Amino acid sequence: MKVFSAQDRNHFSNELNEDLLLLATRSTRLLTSVTVQNGLNLFSSFAMNLISFYPSDVNGGLRNRTFKPSRSVSSILRVMVRFSTRAIHCDDREDATGTVTVPIYQVSTFRQKQPGLEGEYVYARTANPTRTALETALAALEEGKHGLAFGSGMGAITSLALSLLRQGDHVVAVQDLYGGSRRLFDRIMRNFGVNFTYVQGSSARAFEEAMRPETKIVWVESPTNPLLQIVDIAITAEVAHERNALLVVDNTFASPYLQEPLKFGADIVIHSTTKYLGGHSDLIGGAVVLSDSSIYNKVRFAQNAAGAVPGPFDCWLVLRGIKTLAVRMDRHCSNAQRIAEYLSSHPKIEKVLYPGLASHPQHSLAAKQMAEFGGMVSIYLKGGFEACRRMLNHVKIFTLAESLGAVESLIEHPASMTHSSVPKEERERAGVSDSLIRLSVGIEDVEDLVTDLSQALEHV
Ligand code: PLP
Repeated sequence: MKVFSAQDRNHFSNELNEDLLLLATRSTRLLTSVTVQNGLNLFSSFAMNLISFYPSDVNGGLRNRTFKPSRSVSSILRVMVRFSTRAIHCDDREDATGTVTVPIYQVSTFRQKQPGLEGEYVYARTANPTRTALETALAALEEGKHGLAFGSGMGAITSLALSLLRQGDHVVAVQDLYGGSRRLFDRIMRNFGVNFTYVQGSSARAFEEAMRPETKIVWVESPTNPLLQIVDIAITAEVAHERNALLVVDNTFASPYLQEPLKFGADIVIHSTTKYLGGHSDLIGGAVVLSDSSIYNKVRFAQNAAGAVPGPFDCWLVLRGIKTLAVRMDRHCSNAQRIAEYLSSHPKIEKVLYPGLASHPQHSLAAKQMAEFGGMVSIYLKGGFEACRRMLNHVKIFTLAESLGAVESLIEHPASMTHSSVPKEERERAGVSDSLIRLSVGIEDVEDLVTDLSQALEHV
């Protein structure tokens, strides 16, 4: 059941009026523009003016003369337009050539005028104009002040952990966290004296009970991977903040189109841009978005110091993916809903996990927190691993592969694939049993997908 469409979310109303008033009182240059009533006219008429008006703090104060994907533009777009428009225009820029799309600056270093006098760009690990455009877009999409792009989701997670955690610190995280995040936490970060406690994401009390005086971060995914539990972001933010900890939300499964954790009180949002933001299974990337400038400076320092940065071509691919995010997500969601409903009544299936089903224990929380219910569906098959093996060996349109969030449908077995690095005992305790299958529902014709699953299940 679709509760409300992300298309309908209105970011104008009072917020826009207040912002316009603020801007108008700050600059006479804007006074002619504020009388224009509607979004597109409004931003095309003065977004470019604002580039020079608003100080850009993107890239820690760097300003870019040749190419200006300006933070100031995105801050205006944040309040001026609805998501789909923002996704397409959040990389608008000033450029002498008049190019309509962001160029790929396939370059590693930049000519300097004099020794010791740095230009706007110096070395592409530190900053690259195509990456700057992506970072600006990411911030605009999540309605955060700062965006940072990384070479992978794990690069983003590692850089964030290295920036914020010290020996003796403690992290409370959801139990069915993405396997790679758990691997990093348990097999690398623990070696540096950082401790982790994993809790049921669906229980706010579990977070509260796990907090310690030295807890620095509460780390959640929502929906979780692969059990699609919903974490109440607003309540968890309160729990974290009462103890002076930060709330980090991995928003990969929802995408910013369906859920904006910063609005619910989260401090930091992370993404594997490999997934819905890229959307075409053709890149690996990660992102961090946040509004606190002092934390941003720390993460940006780690981004440059540790160097897990994306190349310009991959940045460009994510930028391109972002432009179609809204239309893709609508289709992912409606296809997933149809498939979840179909599988719910299938006799060979024990249980279907999908937040859009009324049977999902946190269906109403998902409806409150998300615009729609996402493109991921998990199922427990009757008959254990052998049943899963048979089904997975017989799908024809679904591809047996790790990853998710792309236009083509993927299917996988978490226990032997994405979550195999989690010890079996812990996996089973979390509910990631050998009977579990995870589907990333693509945007193909949904009846073809249903037919494919139906014929594969005949082999079980
Ligand atoms: N977070 C989640 C929820 C994921 O599913 C993944 C990968 O599957 C990651 C982070 C890591 O992202 P990447 O594979 O881009 O490093």
